[in-house]
Amino acid sequence: MHTPYRGRFAPSPTGDLHLGSLLSAVASYLQARRHNGQWLIRIEDIDPPREIHGSAAGIVKDLQTLGLQADEAVSYQSNNTAAYRQAVTHLLVSAKAFRCSCSRKQLKNAPVYPGNCRKLQLDACAVRLKVATRQLTVIDLLQTTREYALAENIGDFIIWRADDLPAYQLAVVVDDAAMGITEVVRGCDLQDSTPRQLYLQECLGLPQPDYLHIPLLTDKNGRKLSKRDNDDPLNRLQPQAAIRLALQLLGQQPPLEISDLDKLWDWAIAHWQVRNIPLQFPTSSIRGLGC
Ligand code: GLU
Repeated sequence: MHTPYRGRFAPSPTGDLHLGSLLSAVASYLQARRHNGQWLIRIEDIDPPREIHGSAAGIVKDLQTLGLQADEAVSYQSNNTAAYRQAVTHLLVSAKAFRCSCSRKQLKNAPVYPGNCRKLQLDACAVRLKVATRQLTVIDLLQTTREYALAENIGDFIIWRADDLPAYQLAVVVDDAAMGITEVVRGCDLQDSTPRQLYLQECLGLPQPDYLHIPLLTDKNGRKLSKRDNDDPLNRLQPQAAIRLALQLLGQQPPLEISDLDKLWDWAIAHWQVRNIPLQFPTSSIRGLGC
């Protein structure tokens, strides 16, 4: 384990905090508190077309109401564009990345990027990272270890978008390093981003945090719980009940007699056990929540 521990919750402001994202927030928060570490909030607001006005402020306020206190001021990726540009320039200059003019349509049927622009010197806006032909192993603190063949399974991936915005993979890696994050706790929907991020860290010479992916909360149709889901139990629960529910889903068993939010957090920090997190959330229990 890296010390001192620094963890983070990094929501995109594309809607309200919902039960699925709350689980990542709670798990990352408890990991940090359990390790006497620090917990930070980073708003990933680098995708204006997907952003929902007021969502960032709403998420920050909800986290506060639910008793998740960050140790530093909330950071916003939109303030960091210069650092992302610097990183992408470094990768281009060192020939670890290349400009790409391929359209979505052109790549429609390709399972991974076929390398069309790899050897060209284009003036295009989009930039891809050149991946090496080798294996990359991802060790997860909860999930089973995964092996990726970089070229075959992942291919050269976008690190700067055609609409001149930094890609998620690049921004996350630059910020996790700048914020000194030692462990990333997030949902399983991002599990396949991890090999990309580990590879980018290698290319940029950045330290590598540990990773822990918690299962994904799905609706009754097996889809990831959406931020716009009106059935989200968070809409109707008091803070204490919402945190109790999150803890139960995460496999923790808070005693029924604790009815105070602060006391519930004290209990959760003292008793937090990663090994009790289920590998999958039982669909039946989610159904019972009305999702
Ligand atoms: N911003 C991402 C999301 O809301 C999470 C990024 C991360 O935790 O690495 O899905």
